Amino acid sequence: MSSVLDATRALLWVDSAEQVAALAAKLVTALGGTLTPAQEAPYDCLPIDLSFGIGAPQLPTLPDDVLSRKLFERHLVGFARDAHQALELLDRPKRLAEDASLDALTGLANRRMLGRALGRVAAEDAIIMIDLDHFKGVNDAFGHDQGDRVLCEFGGALRATTRAADRAVRFGGEEFVVLLAAGDPEAFLLRLRHVWEDRRPRRVTFSAGIALARTDPWCALGAADRALYRAKDAGRDQWQWAVTDDYQ
Ligand code: GH3
Ligand code: MG
Ligand code: MG
Repeated sequence: MSSVLDATRALLWVDSAEQVAALAAKLVTALGGTLTPAQEAPYDCLPIDLSFGIGAPQLPTLPDDVLSRKLFERHLVGFARDAHQALELLDRPKRLAEDASLDALTGLANRRMLGRALGRVAAEDAIIMIDLDHFKGVNDAFGHDQGDRVLCEFGGALRATTRAADRAVRFGGEEFVVLLAAGDPEAFLLRLRHVWEDRRPRRVTFSAGIALARTDPWCALGAADRALYRAKDAGRDQWQWAVTDDYQ
């Protein structure tokens, strides 16, 4: 069965689904079968899709004599399994890259992405630091799972209120950073509060600090953080603008 060995070995070198589909088609022919689009496939075809996502599903139809059918079935099932594994390995670096930049709980960008995002802001953009109020109390009173649910929903509220040019990042724990492309930060926060009050699973509020990116976004991030803490000190459920002294 050198054609099976050849095809399986060739899987080591594939770098696209197209190549895997072509190998499968070649192997089916070498084994005396044919590939048929699933919609037209006869009853006695093997129920394994060998299209590998390229075009319409393709099912193999078996050769006529019994011995060939047995071999065909065994080899093709093994090949299909190896092929799927090869494709999964191909995808892994891409998926790892995606996972490394996204926060799993909220689906927002994670802190690792903040540096890159800060590097792209314009001087007139706003940097908003947001922190949920008394969030520890949610965990203490209702359990960590409910806390997670609140965070997840808050991520949803941020996604619903930011535009394509804005960036929302989970900075850590119950803290979030929004990089708001030129616009009105207070109008954004009012909208966020409105959406949040509509969908929050618990009566949790948030506080925020607002700074303008100006010439040094990192410095502005610190300024937004200091403004946030003034909002906390002033009673929470509110926002404060950074003042000159905050941009240290
Ligand atoms: P404040 O209004 O001053 O911000 O009070 P707070 O309770 O929100 O702040 P504090 O920093 O005291 O507590 C934050 C809590 O967030 C503590 C931590 O256990 C919880 N936390 C951090 N990350 C997660 C998470 O991923 N899931 C859950 N459920 N809790 C988290
Ligand atoms: Mg908090
Ligand atoms: Mg906090």
